[in-house]
Amino acid sequence: MLFRSVLLVEDDPSVAASVIDGLKGAGLAVTHVDQGGAAIAHVAAHQPDIVLLDLGLPDMDGQDVCRQIRSTSQVPIIILSARGDEIDQVLALEFGADDYIVKPFGIRALVARIKAVGRRAVAAPSESTAVQPIGPIVIDRRQQKVFVSDEEIHLTPKED
Ligand code: CA
Repeated sequence: MLFRSVLLVEDDPSVAASVIDGLKGAGLAVTHVDQGGAAIAHVAAHQPDIVLLDLGLPDMDGQDVCRQIRSTSQVPIIILSARGDEIDQVLALEFGADDYIVKPFGIRALVARIKAVGRRAVAAPSESTAVQPIGPIVIDRRQQKVFVSDEEIHLTPKED
C-alpha cells in the first residue's frame, strides 16, 4: 500500500462508518470530515496522502471542493459518486479528480482504486516537477510543451 493517510469527506454517517472500518482494516489511517470547508482546511493543514470526496455535501458542492483542493494541492482525489450525480470520468477529470467510484461500492473495490491511483501518482511526475519555470522559460513535461514569455515554442521530436 502506497498511501497511509486518507481524508474521507462524506456527510452520510453510515457510508462514512463502513468506509472508515474497511480502510482501517486495510491498514490505512482515516480522518473523517463531513463538510467541504473542513476538507479544504484539512488538506491545507495536514496534507493527506489521498482524498475520498463525496459530491453531495451540506455546505459546498463537491466539485467546488475538488477544484479548491486542486488549486493548492496535487493530492490524489477519488470521487465517491452517488448514482444520479450524472458524473462521468471526463467530468471528474475536468474538475481535477483522479478517479471516481459509484455508490454503493464494496470496500475491496475502493481499496483497489486507491492502490491504482497510488501507482499512477508514483509513476507520473508531480506537479512541481511537471511544470518547471526557468526564468522566462516554462517547461511543461505533462503537456510536453515549452513556453518562452508565455508563447509556446514548437519542438521537433529528437532523432536517434
Ligand atoms: Ca452526501
